[in-house]
Amino acid sequence: MAHIAVIGTGYVGLVSGALLSDFGHSVVCVDIDEKKIDALKNGEIPIYEPGLESVVRNNAYYKRLSFTTDIKEAVSTSEVVFIAVGTPPSDDGSADLKYVLSAATSIAECMDGYKVVVDKSTVPVGTGQKVKAVIRETLEKRGVNLPFDVVSNPEFLREGSAVQDFTHPDRVVIGAESERALEVMKDVYRVLFLNETPFVETDIETAEMIKYAANAFLAMKITFINELANVCERVGANVQKVAKAMGQDGRISSKFLHAGPGYGGSCFPKDTRALAQIASAAGAPMRLMDATVEANEQQKLHMVDKISSVLSSDLNGKKIAVLGVTFKPNTDDMREAPSLVILPELVKRGAFLAVNDPQGSKEGEWRFQAIKDSLSWHEDPYEAIHGSDATVILTEWNQFRTLDFSRYDELEAGKVLFDLRNIFSRTQLEALGFTYTGVGV
Ligand code: NAD
Repeated sequence: MAHIAVIGTGYVGLVSGALLSDFGHSVVCVDIDEKKIDALKNGEIPIYEPGLESVVRNNAYYKRLSFTTDIKEAVSTSEVVFIAVGTPPSDDGSADLKYVLSAATSIAECMDGYKVVVDKSTVPVGTGQKVKAVIRETLEKRGVNLPFDVVSNPEFLREGSAVQDFTHPDRVVIGAESERALEVMKDVYRVLFLNETPFVETDIETAEMIKYAANAFLAMKITFINELANVCERVGANVQKVAKAMGQDGRISSKFLHAGPGYGGSCFPKDTRALAQIASAAGAPMRLMDATVEANEQQKLHMVDKISSVLSSDLNGKKIAVLGVTFKPNTDDMREAPSLVILPELVKRGAFLAVNDPQGSKEGEWRFQAIKDSLSWHEDPYEAIHGSDATVILTEWNQFRTLDFSRYDELEAGKVLFDLRNIFSRTQLEALGFTYTGVGV
């Protein structure tokens, strides 16, 4: 059993901490956000992530998992210290490392023996060495010379299926510079190691790059199919059929080939921009990244144009039911969700929005503060649809897949559907008297 501290108790830190305790380790999760830690101590889970609550409760009950704002106590009792703080984009697109470096400084200020400092946050190549330098400088200031190793262990979990992803990863990447650190990390992931999960053992820089490469490639794949969808619309082809046949080619795979309103979330937008910035700063610009970032921004606005072109260029007086505002289903996360661009633009063109999202209203209420006079929140999709001129499906929550279209007459709602996730069939909807618009279908 290892003693582990996780600095940063957000989507990644909380999931990692909880599941590492589930692997049998003793884990203390640290955050500077007192409210978050207080809530966790009271058994409240600050994020919506299926399956997480019971893991947290169970391991907290057996005292394998605890929460604190006291980094000193957490570091002093742990040999392994994960950094899982945010790395938001700076103005130039590069990852802002202030939280990572501040966590590294805090660790060095209170370490008292050998530590393996593991960077789990997504960080540009070279950050591991910066973390090392910051720790060394801080130790020098303290006048102490303590042994430590820095490891890069990027995280690939997806929000919405984070518990499954963390316990069944496609691979675990470990970038380390010493045998000792590698052995400690193998012990941390012993449960996965025994399950024959592939381990990629490499240097820190390569591990850091693997994470950006994987995310950027997936974002590029989504953007490819989105742009192809726009072409399909013009030439009368069906992008869903095209994607299906493409995906049947084992070299391509069917994943991340679903046309839609553009990618969002806490990772793809910032990681694509960060890789573009890393590449150009290194003198080896990646034109594919620049194009991906730009095309994704365009895709969101293209959705608004599609809606306007069916309803009327000026949306004045139109009431639009919006189903889904989170960046994907099964999460309450709205960071960089397409809705953040699409909804304000619809309002700018004169629309009034009636919104339903199974988990998005709490975050949505402050994120859409600027358009709050043109937007109402509803507990139920049919309440949002009631009296609307059109319905836009923006996030493919399962609840929306079973919408009862026979209720539209009784709800006095316009039979106009913008299915921006292609979850319904045009033929079926048209047979029900709907004007149907999908993406590339
Ligand atoms: P988050 O914003 O949900 O959580 C970060 C947490 O760190 C916050 O609770 C914040 O209060 C805390 N924090 C900041 N500075 C701190 C400090 N000095 N000491 C203690 N706590 C501190 O972020 P996230 O979504 O969990 O992402 C964390 C990192 O993991 C990012 O680099 C992200 O790119 C990467 N990542 C995220 C995902 C994902 O799906 N969210 C997946 C893989 C990797």
